[in-house]
Amino acid sequence: MSEHQGIFSSPAIQDYLSAGAKMSTEQLSQRLWTVSDGKYRTIFLEADHSVVAFDTFGTPARARAYAAEIAKVIPGKPVKTVIYSHDHIDHAGFAADFAPDAEIVADEMTAKVIAMRAAEGQLGVTQALSGTEHRVNFDGAEFVLLNRGPVHGTGHLSAYFEEEKLFYSSDTILANARYGFMPDYHFTNFVKIMRSYLDLDFERFVPGRYEVTDRNRFIEGCDYIEAMQLTCQKAFISFVPIWVHDAMAGYVQNELGERFGHLDGFNEHSGQTAIRIVHHYLMGGWGLEDTPEPGILLAD
Ligand SMILES: [Zn+2]
Repeated sequence: MSEHQGIFSSPAIQDYLSAGAKMSTEQLSQRLWTVSDGKYRTIFLEADHSVVAFDTFGTPARARAYAAEIAKVIPGKPVKTVIYSHDHIDHAGFAADFAPDAEIVADEMTAKVIAMRAAEGQLGVTQALSGTEHRVNFDGAEFVLLNRGPVHGTGHLSAYFEEEKLFYSSDTILANARYGFMPDYHFTNFVKIMRSYLDLDFERFVPGRYEVTDRNRFIEGCDYIEAMQLTCQKAFISFVPIWVHDAMAGYVQNELGERFGHLDGFNEHSGQTAIRIVHHYLMGGWGLEDTPEPGILLAD
């Protein structure tokens, strides 16, 4: 069987795309579940006659495993709505294998990128949303979708579930330091915009990777990225060789270890996070997303 390849071009990638994954699902409320393949995480909801699911996971096999997991906990209701949290293939690349007949909902910028990218298996958006806030109702499932500006990827949507006091935001804040290289994060406004979501009355936070967490760990996550940004600027002042991974890892671990060393993955990941952030300051950001008034991206 030949799998959808996303943007991979090597025929040898098939083994990766078809490799099985063990999913684990946890019920968060009467209507809401979270599911993880051990690293990536997303959510889905039971609606009146169907299921509303966020994202697809990052390979065809994982997309199928996600669909099977939903069918197990909500038998007899098809996935009729898929919401892309953002454009990235590792989260939202394989609706063709997950729910080929579903409505695909996303921000209008996400819709444009996906249409132009034409990645194999990543279905185009059928319902594009414009603006910062949408109180949606898909088949009786009501909640709020939010895009307060560029934080990660293109046209990023977070979701707020008022009755659950729960906030879902994929690939933004984590409850640990396992950020890796942080490509396509928009640091000019990232912490400011993520902190703005604290005006929502949420107690639980579901990130796009790793474990479900709470409001305090969300705040700590904002604090960590902000402290990392300040420490990376200090590295310039101290003439640390900012291009060198080990030098930056040692510098930020020394500066931030006391406050954030307890975060899972801090020692392994803080060096590459720092390398990425110094490049933000070297380059001035990446594109229009990293300008002081990124609202320009919300307009057509
Ligand atoms: Zn992403």
